[in-house]
Amino acid sequence: MDDSLKAFGDEVLEGRLDPRVALECFLLVRLGVRTLAIVTLPAELPDGDLLGAQVDFEFRGRLVGQARDLKTRFNDAIERRRLKPVAFKTFLLRSSFANIVLASHSYLTHKQAGKSIGLDLQETEVRPAIREWFVSRPEDRAKILDLLSRRRELQRRGRAQHKPSQPVTLYVYPEETDADYLRSLGQLLGYPECCVEAYVGGRVRTEAAGGIPEDRAAAQIRDGRPALSAFWVKDFFPCRPDCPEAEARGRQARALLAQVRPEFAEIYAGFCRQNLERVSRGPEDIRRHGEWLDRGWSRS
Ligand SMILES: [Zn+2]
Repeated sequence: MDDSLKAFGDEVLEGRLDPRVALECFLLVRLGVRTLAIVTLPAELPDGDLLGAQVDFEFRGRLVGQARDLKTRFNDAIERRRLKPVAFKTFLLRSSFANIVLASHSYLTHKQAGKSIGLDLQETEVRPAIREWFVSRPEDRAKILDLLSRRRELQRRGRAQHKPSQPVTLYVYPEETDADYLRSLGQLLGYPECCVEAYVGGRVRTEAAGGIPEDRAAAQIRDGRPALSAFWVKDFFPCRPDCPEAEARGRQARALLAQVRPEFAEIYAGFCRQNLERVSRGPEDIRRHGEWLDRGWSRS
């Protein structure tokens, strides 16, 4: 075990890193269980809710001309005159995100920790105040960049064709209905092929597949005997709650994490329990997220 992994393990156990991001996203990529993991910023940082609220607070203040310092206030006044109202709001959100999140202790600590174990963190903007890290090993960088450029192209095309009568989620995530993109993404995330196909079926041919993956997976848990290790990472939907392929991923992940620190086996099992709970309440969460997007939409 190399020294950087030992030091990383200390940081997790001493509470300096978010354990889920550290184990599921950073270590499982570093240990080769998956090629890619995605971290949403600021939501998945340990103080993500607070950072999000601070971004919102700064944005609202600046929107009414109340920046916290004179230089920002002056600059905002220039941009307000120069930009159209929607573009000005986007500028304010992006700038508030940079001031709050990119300068935050937790952002910097996690970024540094990922790099300390040799990981590559491609940072990409989803919306002006939401970014993602695409976490990979440096040797896989080309695959990740290819995936990101395919996503950008799908988003560009999807948004250009979006009609006001269609759901807002289709505007924000048009790539979610592209089967080829979803297959590549699932494979890079380390998901078993059977589970990827079940997910793609639910997304692209919803009626034939018995509903969207979130509904299908929640119903399967109610009717079956879920295996904890099949819920091996967050946001993953096994093709069935006891899929042997998914279970094998979970067992491998747990064994490798335990080699870094024996304590990680129990911590990781706790995440699997949370993942199972999250999937079993899935549809409700999705509805809330949809409502949240709609609210954000009507505000901007
Ligand atoms: Zn499966």
